[in-house]
Amino acid sequence: MPTICRAAITYGVNEPFRVEEIEVADPGPRDVLVKMTASGICHSDLNCVEGKMPHYMPAVFGHEGFGYVAAMGDEVRGLKVGDAVMPYCVPECGACAYCTSGRGNFCVEMPAAFNPERASPLSRGGKKVMNFTGIATFSEYSLIRDNQILKVRQSAKPDLCCCIGCAVTTGVGAALRTADMQPGGTAVVFGAGGVGLSCVQGCKIGGARRIIVVETNPRKEALARSFGATDFINPKERDVVETVIAMTGIGADYSFDCAGYPETLKAAVLCLNKGWGKAVSIGSSGTNVPLPLTFFDLAGRTLTRTLMGSARRQQVGEYVDWFLDGKLKLDNLVSHLIKLDDINEGVAMMNRGESARVVIEFA
Ligand SMILES: [Zn+2]
Ligand SMILES: [Zn+2]
Repeated sequence: MPTICRAAITYGVNEPFRVEEIEVADPGPRDVLVKMTASGICHSDLNCVEGKMPHYMPAVFGHEGFGYVAAMGDEVRGLKVGDAVMPYCVPECGACAYCTSGRGNFCVEMPAAFNPERASPLSRGGKKVMNFTGIATFSEYSLIRDNQILKVRQSAKPDLCCCIGCAVTTGVGAALRTADMQPGGTAVVFGAGGVGLSCVQGCKIGGARRIIVVETNPRKEALARSFGATDFINPKERDVVETVIAMTGIGADYSFDCAGYPETLKAAVLCLNKGWGKAVSIGSSGTNVPLPLTFFDLAGRTLTRTLMGSARRQQVGEYVDWFLDGKLKLDNLVSHLIKLDDINEGVAMMNRGESARVVIEFA
């Protein structure tokens, strides 16, 4: 018997979420039925809703979840009913060249998650509803393959730890893994949302001497400083590139574009020094937006783009441990807790730039 539950469904580009009943299929041999207790809302979800990242609809989005095992198939190993789990939006087949080289975040099974022809365990009235990235966390229950599930410590707090699934993993990992940050450097972080603040935290853990946050909302300055920012630039008041060069002498060692607009990416590259500066692209304002750079902007500088902070599934669990052991701060990251029925208001808060992370708590 399929599980009947409530989920936030998106029927078309720019249409508001509709919270309705869906059917969730029973677990196959390697599937896990997760009772979701919390889910963050990420800008990647909104990019899909807004058509900037094309996606099959109707769909249930959400990829920052936390929940407990409700049921599972016969071949699932290492889990039992009631275990605290987090879904991870990237599958890990364990056999491809990416997985065997420790870069499971690029697993060859990843593109299949976006294939509109694939089957989905979700339906409404017998019609397919796609489960975003295979995990669809804007739903009270979700059916997830065992290679996209991670057992975490039972004492983890769902409403805070769910954000580790994307924002924290991406932001912290961009600094520590993708940029391979060395202690003593200077870093510039564009955008102080959930990913940006996590990136600030990653820079601090990585030993950055100076962490400069670039953000248009002046009310986020105190918050950014609480995560480790040492300087704050409002790009509406000052030229970012000139200011960073003046602050650092030759330009920063690292920069992270969590905003993802052409102008922020360009500034992230141009504020670097020309000897060894590394820029990491993180945010995205659309899949078809071209790079806003000239050939010579890259002279002596490195630009790369991170996918999930270069993290494998197991590393998400390590970040949960870091939080429980006091190494990671999450309390200020979640700015708003909402109910599933209020998801459209949550999105409006995000679009107004008022929030750090908005988290849905399921009943
Ligand atoms: Zn995300
Ligand atoms: Zn793989």
